[in-house]
Amino acid sequence: MVVILLGPPGVGKGTQAIRLADRVGWEHLSTGDLLRAALRDGTPLGDEARTFMDAGELVPDGLIMNLVRERLSGLAPEAGILFDGFPRTTAQAEGLDGVLHETGRRVDRVVVFEAPEEDLVKRLSGRRTCPVCGAVYNVYFNPPARDEICDRCGAKLVHRSDDEPDTVRRRLRVYEEQTAPLVSYYEDAGEPVMHVAADRSVDEVQHAFRAALGLESTAP
Ligand code: AMP
Repeated sequence: MVVILLGPPGVGKGTQAIRLADRVGWEHLSTGDLLRAALRDGTPLGDEARTFMDAGELVPDGLIMNLVRERLSGLAPEAGILFDGFPRTTAQAEGLDGVLHETGRRVDRVVVFEAPEEDLVKRLSGRRTCPVCGAVYNVYFNPPARDEICDRCGAKLVHRSDDEPDTVRRRLRVYEEQTAPLVSYYEDAGEPVMHVAADRSVDEVQHAFRAALGLESTAP
């Protein structure tokens, strides 16, 4: 199954995607995580992406498509994939349709996570991420068992520089302008688009998420 996760920064897409991917053995493909790995490794892609990311702007579509193509080429053709933070523009959505088409696949489901804007700002300010395995925590809603330490791999957690208030506000605007229109893009293409209220506990959202994918019989 190929699933696209849409929703503004801070809505919890990463947390939900990692949980589900761990449970069902699907690939969690987060372009944000891939870009942050490129920054850490000091690759040419990382150097090109840095200014855009620091400003809360989108990295150019061409760079993103190359990254996604490369990642997909390493996966088994029938692998389940959860796309998190990609596509973010109509050009990327069209690019993805083309890449999937080459391997006889298509987008099977689109899940849109929704929460009020004041929740998003609080979530982003409390967010901590693991620089090693990509796990996501929140000091308010989903804290690690040991302060600032990743439950999964024991690494020290970090607060992302683009989770600072000014950059957060810019990222929310960019989402509304460039990414939110993808909901209509997929609806118009006749894809099943499911909406999940994400202003609930991590467990409740996970249950609703699985229900939206037909992996649970009912939502709570
Ligand atoms: P995320 O972790 O998904 O919130 O992404 C963090 C930052 O990486 C974004 O604010 C963008 O600067 C960049 N980014 C991640 N994914 C994409 C994408 N699909 N297209 C353009 N920029 C992206």
